[in-house]
Amino acid sequence: MSFESVATAAYLVASLLFILSLAGLSKHETAKRGLTAGVAGMLIALVATVGLVLDDHPGPAAVALLVIAVVAGAAIGLWRARIVHMTGMPELIALLHSFVGLAAVLVGWNGYLASDHLEGALARIHHAEVFIGVFIGAVTFTGSIVAFLKLSARVKSSPLVLPGKNLINLGALTLFVGLTVAFVIHPLAWELVVVTIVALALGWHLVASIGGGDMPVVVSMLNSYSGWAAAASGFLLGNDLLIVTGALVGSSGAYLSYIMCQAMNRSFLSVIAGGLGIEAPTTGDTDYGEHREINADDTAQLLASASSVVITPGYGMAVAQAQYPVAELTRILRESGVNVRFGIHPVAGRLPGHMNVLLAEAKVPYDIVFEMDEINDDFADTDVVLVIGANDTVNPAAAEDPGSPIAGMPVLRVWDAADVVVFKRSMAAGYAGVQNPLFFRDNTQMLFGDAKDRVEDILRSLRDNPVFAATSAPSTTR
Ligand code: NDP
Repeated sequence: MSFESVATAAYLVASLLFILSLAGLSKHETAKRGLTAGVAGMLIALVATVGLVLDDHPGPAAVALLVIAVVAGAAIGLWRARIVHMTGMPELIALLHSFVGLAAVLVGWNGYLASDHLEGALARIHHAEVFIGVFIGAVTFTGSIVAFLKLSARVKSSPLVLPGKNLINLGALTLFVGLTVAFVIHPLAWELVVVTIVALALGWHLVASIGGGDMPVVVSMLNSYSGWAAAASGFLLGNDLLIVTGALVGSSGAYLSYIMCQAMNRSFLSVIAGGLGIEAPTTGDTDYGEHREINADDTAQLLASASSVVITPGYGMAVAQAQYPVAELTRILRESGVNVRFGIHPVAGRLPGHMNVLLAEAKVPYDIVFEMDEINDDFADTDVVLVIGANDTVNPAAAEDPGSPIAGMPVLRVWDAADVVVFKRSMAAGYAGVQNPLFFRDNTQMLFGDAKDRVEDILRSLRDNPVFAATSAPSTTR
C-alpha cells in the first residue's frame, strides 16, 4: 500500500474529527471534548502531510526545510498563545487570519508559475482556481491586517467613508470578474498582478469602511473568508483535507456572521459588502450638558438601600480584571437579601461570550447571569444598575438617534432603572468612538477610576456598614 493511500485515510479521519470538534464546541458541556477532537485531528493531519512531503521528496533538504518551518511556526505560536491576554485574542485571531490569506496568495502565485504542463479544460480549471484563490487570499490578507490594527487600537475604529465607496467596491468586483474570464481563456502575468493589487486594496477598503460597533461581525466574516481562501489553496494543491477544513471554517464563519448580524440588527449583506448602504453618520459633537459624579462610599450607600441591582459589565471590566471583586460584591449583596443579577450584551467585551467567561472564572453563579433579551424589560423595576466598564452596549443613542453610527444596534436599556452608576476612568467614548448620552442623564452618576479599585473601595465601605458587616468576611478577591 502506498503512503498516499495511508495519508488519504488519515485525512478522512482528521476531517471527521474536525466535524466532531465543531459539534462539541457548540455546547458548554461538550466543549472540552470538542477541543480534544480538534487537536487530535490537527495532529493526524500534520503527521500525514509531513509523511506525504517526505514520500514525494526524500532527502535531507526536504527534511531540513520541514523541520525549520514546523519548529519556527510552533515556537512562535506557543510563545504568542502563552503571552496573549484574553482582551488581545480578537486581534491575534485577526492576525492569524491574515497569514491564511497571505498563504493563499503565495500558493496561487506558485500555482500559476508551475502550471506549464496542463492543457485544455484542466488548464482552464487550474487558471480559475489560481485567480479566485489569489483574489480571496489577498482580500483576506489586507482585510485582516486592518481588523488587527483597529482591534489593537493602532488605528481609529470609526468607519472610513470615501466618496462613492459602494461604487469603488462594485468597480473592483466587476474588474475581478472581467479579468477572471480573460485569465481563464488566456492567462497573462499582468492580469494576476492587477487582480492581486485590486484585491489587496479591496480588502483594506472593505474593513476600513466598517465602524467599530460592527467589528465583531467583521472578525467572524474574515474567519469565513480565511476558510474559503484555505479551500481555494486546497484545490490548487490537490489537498482534500484543506478543501474540507476550509469549507468547514468558511461556512461556519459565514453562519456565525449571519447570527451576529441578526443579534445586532445589522444587514448581513451590508456588512460583508463593507457597510453597503450605510452612509456617513450625521451625529456631530452634540452638547449633552453636565454629568454628575459619585464616590465609592455614596455608591455603597445606594447599594445598601437597594432591593434589586443589575450589573452590566463590559470591556473595561476585562481590562481592569475587576470580575473577582465584582463577584465578591455580588456575594455580599445577595447574602444580605439584595436581588443581584447580571445583564450581558451579546457583543460586550472583545469576544463572543467574553463576559460570561470572566464571570464563570470568578465563580459568579450561572443562574443570575442573563442575556440582554432576558433582562431588558426588567430594568424599569430595578433600583440600581452598575455599568462596569461598558459603554457602547449601554448607549441610548443606538435606540434613539437614527444618525448615530450604532443606530439600530440593540442595547441594554439601563437608563430605565431608578439609579445608574457608570464605572470608567474618564468621559472617553467607547470602542465605536461614539459619545454616550447615558452619562448625562438625570439618573446617571459617574464613578471615575479603575473599575477594580472602585469596586474594592465599595467593598471596604460596605464592610463598615453594620447591615453588611456580618456577610462581608475578609475579601477573597484577587
Ligand atoms: P466599550 O469598548 O464600548 O467601552 C469600554 C469602556 O471601558 C470604555 O469606555 C473605557 O472608558 C472603559 N474602561 C477601560 N478600561 C477601564 C478600566 N481599567 N476601568 C474602568 N473602565 C475602563 O465596551 P462594551 O463592552 O460596552 O462594548 C464592546 C464594544 O466592542 C462594542 O462596540 C463591540 O461592537 C466591540 N467589539 C466587540 C467584539 C466582541 O466580539 N464582543 C469584538 C470586537 C469589537 P475609559 O477609557 O474612560 O475608562
